[in-house]
Amino acid sequence: MMELPTVPTPTIAIAGEALRFPVRRIFCVGRNYADHAREMGHDPDREPPFFFTKPGDAVSDSGVLPFPPRTADLHHEVEWVVALGGGGRNIRVEDAAALIFGHAVGLDLTRRDLQAEAKKAGRPWDMAKGFDHSAPVGPLRRERPRTDAAIALSIDGETRQRGRLDDMIWSVEEVIAHISTFVALAPGDLIFTGTPAGVGPIRPGDTLRGTVEGLEPIEVRFEG
Ligand code: MN
Repeated sequence: MMELPTVPTPTIAIAGEALRFPVRRIFCVGRNYADHAREMGHDPDREPPFFFTKPGDAVSDSGVLPFPPRTADLHHEVEWVVALGGGGRNIRVEDAAALIFGHAVGLDLTRRDLQAEAKKAGRPWDMAKGFDHSAPVGPLRRERPRTDAAIALSIDGETRQRGRLDDMIWSVEEVIAHISTFVALAPGDLIFTGTPAGVGPIRPGDTLRGTVEGLEPIEVRFEG
């Protein structure tokens, strides 16, 4: 008879520490930067934030990744990621900052062709957003980045996305409060807070570098 399997907890690195941060759920905010909402064909002034999720084990460290299957249009979205050390339901905006354990740079990798098909057919985004290795995250830092910190992504040294954290439509605290009205947040949750304009395709062999001023970069090379 088959033995009960051992299932590992996914983790991400913590800068300067040997211990790793255990990951529970991954929440992502859609269209949280006005210029990105516009590039995707939406009016940023008229839409409240919305959320989707990725499986916790979609995280990966900097390094070499396999190019994902079933896509001809893999896109990069560089994002400020917050990791929660606390949680709760119906969290007040003024209580949200105290729940944050640390901060990192993440890539919300997206099979844009599958997402476009799903949108057109009114189907879920799971296979467009939640595939294996779809959430690379750099090492966490305890210090919060400055409000006006630059966020950027380059491919092979060429800048593709650039913005500032204060371009975000909904603040991290507002996002935490809002998500916690739908589901209970808990220690180990990661929140991807949205991406600035300039999203675009990744090709096999590309090296991506995502940065937020004050945080550790994430660097990923896709197998060619
Ligand atoms: Mn995103």
